[in-house]
Amino acid sequence: MDLFRKLIEEADSLVDDSKPDRALEFVREAQLELKKIGASVLMHEATVARLLIDIGEQLWDSEVTQEGLTFLEDNLVALGKMIQLASLEYNIGNAKKTLYSISRLKNKQIFTPESISLLLEAKDHYWRALKANVPMQLSRQLCVNLANVLDSSGRLVEALFWYDQALSIDPTFCMAHHNRAIALQFLNRLSGSFSISLIEEIRKSFTLAKTDPDLFPHLADQAQKQIELLQLRLQELGWDDERIAEDKKQHEAEYEQHDEYWKFCLANHLALSEHGLYCKCVGVRRDDLSIVKQSGSIAGDFVPRLELLLNRIKSEFCYARVLYYQSLKPETKWHTDTYQSTFTELYEGEAIGIEEEFLRNSFRLCFGILDKIAQGLNELFSFAEPEEKLYFESFWRKNGKQGTKRWELINSQNNTSLVALFSLATDLNANKGEWGFFKEYRNRMEHGLLVLLKDGSENLPAYISPERIQCTAVSIGEFKKHTMQMLQFTRSAIFSFAFCVRIEGQKKLSENKKENATKLQLGKKAIGKV
Ligand SMILES: [Zn+2]
Repeated sequence: MDLFRKLIEEADSLVDDSKPDRALEFVREAQLELKKIGASVLMHEATVARLLIDIGEQLWDSEVTQEGLTFLEDNLVALGKMIQLASLEYNIGNAKKTLYSISRLKNKQIFTPESISLLLEAKDHYWRALKANVPMQLSRQLCVNLANVLDSSGRLVEALFWYDQALSIDPTFCMAHHNRAIALQFLNRLSGSFSISLIEEIRKSFTLAKTDPDLFPHLADQAQKQIELLQLRLQELGWDDERIAEDKKQHEAEYEQHDEYWKFCLANHLALSEHGLYCKCVGVRRDDLSIVKQSGSIAGDFVPRLELLLNRIKSEFCYARVLYYQSLKPETKWHTDTYQSTFTELYEGEAIGIEEEFLRNSFRLCFGILDKIAQGLNELFSFAEPEEKLYFESFWRKNGKQGTKRWELINSQNNTSLVALFSLATDLNANKGEWGFFKEYRNRMEHGLLVLLKDGSENLPAYISPERIQCTAVSIGEFKKHTMQMLQFTRSAIFSFAFCVRIEGQKKLSENKKENATKLQLGKKAIGKV
């Protein structure tokens, strides 16, 4: 057994040094050693499987990856009793992400909902790992890996959120800085309008990534090249280090000029502003997200129609967000005391009252917004008959005559943000989605009872009969957390919707160039404070 342990240790450190070929040799020897011992030692075999997955990723070898994955999946139940669930899910997620990446490159797959099934599975494993108790040493890497699959699915806004989460655990973590820089470069392409602070933010992230000696040498080289290119770009635009430092100082001071509410929105990733994805200065105007780019043009008669719909969506989101904020009873609280009701003292465990209704309605409104996004997509792509009722989460179903035709249509589009919306919808799938219970909350609110329990009280009172009343109970603390997640989820969907239409508008513009089509640039009006 000692020899086995030694071989594994050696393989482990070779993986850390990114020497996968040598590591694999040690793992193969370790496997032979296990056979010699004869006894089936599941724990040790699981260690081998985990190493195979890591080596497979570094070697870019699907067979080695698959070998590790098959072992973990075949022994999931037994292993679940010995190894932390979070670690298991994390390793399985890694294997599936690797298999997806290899197959995408090898088969030159087009990026469609159909082609990303492995990526969706990887995402679900990471969600499950996150919901289980993640061991501390895994948590920063899990945040980055989750961010990577979200980014690969086009879910840029959430990817940035999870890179930030990783950096809040470890501010020096090179992979979080490096991949954040790449995600921001994608945003730069998508928005078509770079700002100095975006270029600077990308440069800063690459520089911080490079500072960490743990960054793989090939990535460090790439980062260095990017830093030089960005530096050159900034110089061309007349920005030297001194001017940038001055500008940065000003930006930081500007954050303080926001009122408490807007600071809350920015801090909690609830702002609908492209600039707000990477900066918190006064340039982050309130919810100024639009389909039309900040600079440059797009075309298509669908753009103004969908811009109108986006206004409606933003208005509802803005309302859902302030309801959530008010449920927290902030200092700038609405005066609700006059309007509160009186309740009988039958059951003291339920959290009830106007603030609780704010919270519940904030959650509920998000679903209405998502359904409007489904309608917007139909307006754009004509996926469904006009009389069909569309729901965000069931919109993508493949079954039935209509479903089959729609699924083909969806998959024939070449639009990253449409795939992102599909990926978001899979999270809410009532049967399979990791956040499917959000749907249950909503259904209970509409058609049954969703009882919010005061923190500390655990059960419903005995006189509520679950046979007659469909009832779900959740502690108010949990529900607050879930409402925040739902708001962030909805915000991501709104961004993806705007980007999705923008991508179509860009296509239209390049198609129509010869015909000199009308280009759209819209002005903006802000209601109230901006
Ligand atoms: Zn800024």
